[in-house]
Amino acid sequence: MELEAGRRRDQSGVLRGEFARTIACLALIQTATRCFSNRVNPGRAEAASRESKAVSEAQENLAVERRDALWGQLLAWYAAHRRDLPWRRVEDPYAVWVSESMLQQTRVSTVIPYYERFIERFPTVQALAESDIDEVLGLWSGLGYYSRARRLHAAAVLIVDEHQAVFPRSRPDAEALPGVGAYTAGAVLSIAYGLEERLIDGNVQRVLARWFAVEGIVTKSGPRRFIEQMAGELVDGVGDPGSWNQALMELGATVCLPREPRCDRCPVRAVCDARARGMESALPELAPKPAPIEVELEVFVVMDQGRVLLVRRSEEGRMAGLWELPTREIGLEEPRLFPFELDAHLLRGAEIGFIKHSITKHRIQARVLSADLGVRELPEGWAWISQSELEGLGLTGMTLKALKKARASLR
Ligand code: SF4
Repeated sequence: MELEAGRRRDQSGVLRGEFARTIACLALIQTATRCFSNRVNPGRAEAASRESKAVSEAQENLAVERRDALWGQLLAWYAAHRRDLPWRRVEDPYAVWVSESMLQQTRVSTVIPYYERFIERFPTVQALAESDIDEVLGLWSGLGYYSRARRLHAAAVLIVDEHQAVFPRSRPDAEALPGVGAYTAGAVLSIAYGLEERLIDGNVQRVLARWFAVEGIVTKSGPRRFIEQMAGELVDGVGDPGSWNQALMELGATVCLPREPRCDRCPVRAVCDARARGMESALPELAPKPAPIEVELEVFVVMDQGRVLLVRRSEEGRMAGLWELPTREIGLEEPRLFPFELDAHLLRGAEIGFIKHSITKHRIQARVLSADLGVRELPEGWAWISQSELEGLGLTGMTLKALKKARASLR
């Protein structure tokens, strides 16, 4: 990756003091101690070389005046423009952790009502640990990626049992919890505890790739390591790591947008390499997305005395343990998402409507049909559910949509 000459570290040594020297020494020591094993293991040699290159490039890119400009301008902008979000009104590690778990792969506007209901019902990690997983899934219903809810619950139990009901303050302990990866650990440790821990989500990755005009696919090892190094250097010594990390994410979410970055209103446009080179829309380079899998479904609404017939999904696999309307995949010999045998149990009725839905890479088109039960005994895992019971039940997102469609057709 090319460096902009005017912003490089100058030869008189303006690079920030102790941290940079420590990183440089560490890189040398690591290189020396790996020398022997690298001779007999060329793969390790290449990895060490990439790591060392990322360290030195990071140092060269972050001259002290540029870092100070980024800190000052972005933090001032964040203080003035940050969105007022419910989880930003607290510094409770538990609340930060819940919000960050919900925000993975999910929009802020979608998360807000879920977060508020969740925290109201489970205000502490003890309350969550003592709860029934079915109730947790009920509150998560419609938010998607349900394994997050299961892992959150499992981690709450561990925090109570092994960490005196306090989210751990060290990265290794935090990352040992179910569902807590590098991003979530960095978020909780920096926002709730004020620790100088980096975090990298999609927004931060994009912002840093543009600031430093990182070329190459950002998820490949070279660019990825470089971005990690820069994120670490930038949070080190910033003074308010929580605000800094949130400011980076906020810039990515509201200004440095994926397709059309709003550079004219960006607080750091004067020190952005991509902007200076006219590459803001071309970066970051992303790996091509796999083609979506088209899925066609029939979803059946079977009613009896105000109750609706639901099927519980297996405790293993996708959407584990959630309830859904009986659903059938069309035209596939090997059903992938809905492995139920329905033909023997249901008598197909009239069409109620049509819905579209997405589950990860699956793009779903579903006909919603009324139906009658064709057998006397309910198969195992099927149940009649009253309207009041539906309220607290963990339902799949597609079933929520189909029920809405069915209610609208009955009006
Ligand atoms: S100047 Fe443009 S590309 Fe650079 S960080 Fe700001 S919004 Fe993103």
